This record gives sequence, C-alpha cells and structure tokens, in this order.
Amino acid sequence: MDYVENILGTIGNTPMVKMNKLTAELPCLVLAKYETFNPGNSVKDRMALQMIEDAEAAGVLKPGGTIIEGTSGNTGMGLALAATIKGYKMICVISDKQSKEKMDILRAVGSEVHVCPTDVAPEDPRSYYSTAKRLATEIPNSWYVNQYDNPSNCKAHFLSTGPEIWEQTDGKVTHFVVGVGTGGTISGVGSYLKMKNPKVKIWGVDTYGSVFKKYHETGVFDEKEIYPYITEGIGEDILPLNVNFGVIDGFTKVTDKDAAIYTQRLAKEEAMFLGNSAGAAIKGLLQLKEHFNKDDVVVVLFHDHGSRYVGKMFNDDWMKAQGFLE
Ligand code: PMP
Repeated sequence: MDYVENILGTIGNTPMVKMNKLTAELPCLVLAKYETFNPGNSVKDRMALQMIEDAEAAGVLKPGGTIIEGTSGNTGMGLALAATIKGYKMICVISDKQSKEKMDILRAVGSEVHVCPTDVAPEDPRSYYSTAKRLATEIPNSWYVNQYDNPSNCKAHFLSTGPEIWEQTDGKVTHFVVGVGTGGTISGVGSYLKMKNPKVKIWGVDTYGSVFKKYHETGVFDEKEIYPYITEGIGEDILPLNVNFGVIDGFTKVTDKDAAIYTQRLAKEEAMFLGNSAGAAIKGLLQLKEHFNKDDVVVVLFHDHGSRYVGKMFNDDWMKAQGFLE
C-alpha cells in the first residue's frame, strides 16, 4: 500500500512543467514550478506547516491554542489545513480587496475570517496587520504567526522548494523568476540555489504601487512608490524581514493590466489555470527577455490556483470594468 498519514503528507514535491506557447519568443528552456498541486492549491502550504512546526518546537504554540494570521488567503488556507489536522483554532485577518472566493474558501476549511479595510496605513489600528496583532494580545493561548517576519517562512523554501528545483533541473537551472510578497519564496529558493551555484540569477517580480524594486535599486524606502493596486499576492508597502535583498539580482514591475491579461493567457494558451501572481510572473519573465541565452534553464514559480480568481481576472465583465479588456 502506498499512502501518507494525513493530507499534510502531500505537501511539496510538486511537478515542473515546460512552458511552450507563451514563451515561444525566448531562446531558452522555461520551466514552471507548479505549486497548485499542494493540498491547499498554493505554495503557501509549505511555509504554513514549517511555521507551525517550528512554533510547536519552540513552545510558543501550545495544545488547544489559537493561530492568528493576517493573510491574503493562501497562507490562511495552508495554516487552516495544518490547524485542522493538529487540533488548533484558526483566525484569518484579511484585507477587503481580496477576492470573495478566497474568504469563502478560508471559512470552508474551518477558519474564522475578519475583514479589514485595504486603504489604510499598516500602523492604522484598522489595518489587517494591527488587527491581527491586537487579537493575539486579547485571545488567551493564541499565537500570532507573522509570515512577513517569521524566519520559518523563508526556511521552508530553503529546505524544500529550492532543493526540488535544483534536483528537477539536474542542477542546470540558470535563472529563477518569482513574484515577491512576504519574500519567503524568493529568499529561501534564492539562497538555496545560490549556495549550490553562485552564478544562478534570482529575479523578483514586483507590482506598481509596491516599494521593492526602488528599494533594491536605491536603498531608499520611498513612500511615493506606495499606492493601491489590483494585482493580488505580490508587492508590499512594508519591507518584510523575509525579503533577503542580498540574494536578489533585480526586480521587474508588471502592471495590473498585464498581470490580469497574462493570467487569462496562461489558461487559454497553456491550459494553466492559475492565480493572478502567475500572470504577473510570466509577464515579468518575458520583460527580462534580453537576460536569457540559448542554453539557459529559466524556472518560474506559479504560486496559486485560478479557482480563487473566477470572479475577477477570469470574468470578462470585471476585466472590462477595470479597463483591462475592450
Ligand atoms: N502569489 C500569491 C498568490 C501569494 O499568495 C503570495 C504570498 N503573498 C505570493 C505570490 C508571494 O510569495 P511570497 O510571500 O513567498 O513572497
């Protein structure tokens, strides 16, 4: 018989899939690390489990405890799965710009969901950062995860995603391109790949309205870079500790419109039904075209599944209302 003890045993070991039509103009091999095969349909299952197990080991998460996190959905899903298996209560604090599907999914897997306004500063008491922190002080036996600054986030990718990419490419990977939010994925995978081969180039995909690219290029945290945007999952108005700028070679920014259009194109042209940050990632990769040569092996990571975006990027009325489609 061939089985795992519970659903958490299916996290990781995701497939690598060759890109064909969308990247036809590039001279190199482009491979997608396809993270929707995780049980919560996103890469975030990996770091959610790592953060919980590290908190248990450190004694900050105790039996019967409540896990609290400010999450755009995928981390909440990963945490909720692990919470269910391990017997914890889960509370997700989410901003109101996130899709309704994501909120419904979190409730479906047993999480309580608190919705907070998006367009307030992180230090505002109404923000989801502040609300999550406040709940953690009010609820007894609770633990605030803080995926932005929790080192187990990056560690999960150093221990699993990075080694998988190295092995699946027989060590031939030359570039890694990925959207950046908390920074856990790029920093964990980036450090692992650079440890194995310092010549591997690590590219972050950022969004307009986020501080990462400017900060990486100038060292200046420029508040003028911050404004509301539509793209989900990537970009920040803070500098999370999980972004290790030292392993990142550069950032490229993708517009909301391009990210949405390329999310649709991935589904229509590659039969890859993926989330909005995958559209941003593949468009970002195409923008980096002049960096790639014939023998290069470029790996892009696709974070989450398209089902969470059916009311948005996969809805043409919504696309027209944003001015993204004629
Ligand atoms: N895409 C999606 C859909 C996400 O949920 C996230 C996490 N915020 C990211 C990309 C960025 O990943 P990371 O937080 O590891 O930088």
